[in-house]
Amino acid sequence: MSRIFSGIQPSGELHIGNYLGAVKNWAELQRSYESFFCIVDYHAITIPYEPEDLRVRTREMMVSLLAAGLDPSRSTIFVQSMVPEHTELAWIFNSVTPLGELERQTQYKDKASRMESVPAGILNYPILQAADILLYRADLVPVGEDQVQHLELSREIARRWNARFGDGFFPEPQAKLTPARRIMGLDGNAKMSKSMGNTVGLLEPPESIWEKLRPAVTDPARVRRTDPGTPEVCNIYQLHRGFSTPETVEHVAAQCRSAGWGCIDCKKTLAASIETELVPIRRRASELAERPSDVEDALASGATRCRRIARETIDAVRERMGF
Ligand code: ATP
Ligand code: MG
Repeated sequence: MSRIFSGIQPSGELHIGNYLGAVKNWAELQRSYESFFCIVDYHAITIPYEPEDLRVRTREMMVSLLAAGLDPSRSTIFVQSMVPEHTELAWIFNSVTPLGELERQTQYKDKASRMESVPAGILNYPILQAADILLYRADLVPVGEDQVQHLELSREIARRWNARFGDGFFPEPQAKLTPARRIMGLDGNAKMSKSMGNTVGLLEPPESIWEKLRPAVTDPARVRRTDPGTPEVCNIYQLHRGFSTPETVEHVAAQCRSAGWGCIDCKKTLAASIETELVPIRRRASELAERPSDVEDALASGATRCRRIARETIDAVRERMGF
């Protein structure tokens, strides 16, 4: 059976972009793959943070992931810092990663441009990510589009290490995308990101979702109510594709093209579709919040399972590298 690995940072609340681009897919894929899902807290310390917030957010992320459908009886869900082999392999990969490749990563350039003093961790982030994946020798990585370039680098790192120390030892991991591979923030300016403060939370109450949805940017060609639009360029349509039934998606697209509906009608329908999907997720989250020991138990057993596999990989790597 193929192995999949994917991670999410506890850098804020799980949002509908994470859900449509990655987490919903994880819940589906765990049925047919041996699956590892990781809350990557060592990645989250590469931007400024408060220690107490990190602790809280890590638990909240676990609750959100379980509520969104990850099932500890089907997949291994764990916290990165509970398995120290991730950082050990990352250091090893530092020695085979070309600096130029790191410097041309779009996410590095983007995040660094918003910082006065750039920590080396922001630059080296994709090395730790390669270690996360390759520690479990996973061949498939379900992610959003923003991670495709990092995965290309993971393959490069695997190739370079393999060429030097062990032909074919590490697989070259491939990205697995969803149709909603890139959800924009509702202001239309940038990708929806935890760290950008432009998110709609998966556990957010419906009134607050609507407050954000109502003024959201749509196809700029629809200036007047009577102007026809192009659904494909509209973020609201992309969200419909994630949350609405195929019939509704088709209907919405036709109404947009013919200016049969105004954007507000389209948004109301979207709010209803989102609500249908989120009601059971919210309910599961509030049930889980009442049972913190179940959440801790799931994390502890996930970490135990990972440590065993991680140790096997590291032992083989050390052996091949002459330690
Ligand atoms: P941060 O701002 O801290 O980087 P993030 O919102 O980008 O947070 P990550 O933890 O970096 O979230 O990524 C988790 C997963 O969600 C990754 O697979 C990523 O590709 C996916 N993802 C993140 N944002 C989006 C988005 N706007 N649309 C689709 N997928 C996304
Ligand atoms: Mg991100």
